Amino acid sequence: MSRFWNNKVKELVPYTPGEQPKDKKYIKLNTNEFPYSPSPMVEDIIKNYDFEDLRLYPDPDVSELKNEIASFYGLNTENIFIGNGSDEILAFAFMTYFNSGDKIYYPNITYSFYPVYSDLFDLKPETIPLNKNFEIETDDYKNLDSGIILANPNAPTSIALGRDQIEEIIAANKDNIVIIDEAYIDFGGESVLELTKKYDNLLVIQTFSKSRALAGMRLGFAAGNKELIDGLDKVKFSFNSYTINRLSIKAGTAAVKDSEYFLKTVEALIKTREKTKKVLKEYGFFVPDSKANFLFVSHSRISGEELYLKLKDSGILVRYFKKPGIDNFIRITIGTEKEMEIFEEKIKEILKQNK
Ligand code: PMP
Repeated sequence: MSRFWNNKVKELVPYTPGEQPKDKKYIKLNTNEFPYSPSPMVEDIIKNYDFEDLRLYPDPDVSELKNEIASFYGLNTENIFIGNGSDEILAFAFMTYFNSGDKIYYPNITYSFYPVYSDLFDLKPETIPLNKNFEIETDDYKNLDSGIILANPNAPTSIALGRDQIEEIIAANKDNIVIIDEAYIDFGGESVLELTKKYDNLLVIQTFSKSRALAGMRLGFAAGNKELIDGLDKVKFSFNSYTINRLSIKAGTAAVKDSEYFLKTVEALIKTREKTKKVLKEYGFFVPDSKANFLFVSHSRISGEELYLKLKDSGILVRYFKKPGIDNFIRITIGTEKEMEIFEEKIKEILKQNK
């Protein structure tokens, strides 16, 4: 600690990203990345990129990518905001729609960046417990007295609410901002992007890091009514006009254009997820119904921590959260068919040793 740190920084507890060990090559099932390559159209853009262009600042409005997203989802460009990953948009949203000292409602088990941003921007988290099946109870989120953020599907539980359930929450909080983080929505959930046309209190956030295989490019987008988006823009242009680099804009645009590849690869991932789910259930695991690109599982015969360590020993990384309520679970990102077969073999061996 330096004596030059301010009081806030002295107290901060940052978010811990999934480990990226460099000691050996692991099968990486710990950070919910997509197991397939980005679209060949993205590859083409990068291989043929005119590097002379990098002398110039990128378009601060990111219009090309906004237009592509708007046309793909049937929205207007003025209703889209682009961020350097959806984490950046989450941070901007916390800064835009809340005053310091305001309450913010979210589930007690959810994406662990929400408490970190709450702390960074001096909000007061009001956590609402999931029910005993790890589900969000919609009734708990009605007529609240401040803004709400929900990941749908929720992370790390993998469980999704339906569109109607989310709409009930939005409609029952007309005077509060409702932020729906749809990082994993393409893997079987029901998006509420369309509802941004109907409700002025709804902001939907999505990412290119999962279903569009571009975690390394850092791209996300938000959709909402014009006033909500203008607010995010005001914050962004008070912080950094050029959050999205030239290459990312081109790559992201190509990724959205190639809808055929997107749909094909997402479908393949869902197929692998369902297969893995079935095998794990056969092995006696508790496996909630995932609508994400990961499974959140526990077993009565072996602890989450032991499973995580044994898998790591055998060259497979999964995510383990040492947190009350979920410390007996591991979160497994769905990899390729081949990776999941190796994973299933290792799990079988570990369970045999733990009879
Ligand atoms: N929301 C949720 C629920 C996530 O799990 C993640 C990935 N860690 C993000 C947002 C952020 O993703 P990115 O910044 O890569 O878009």
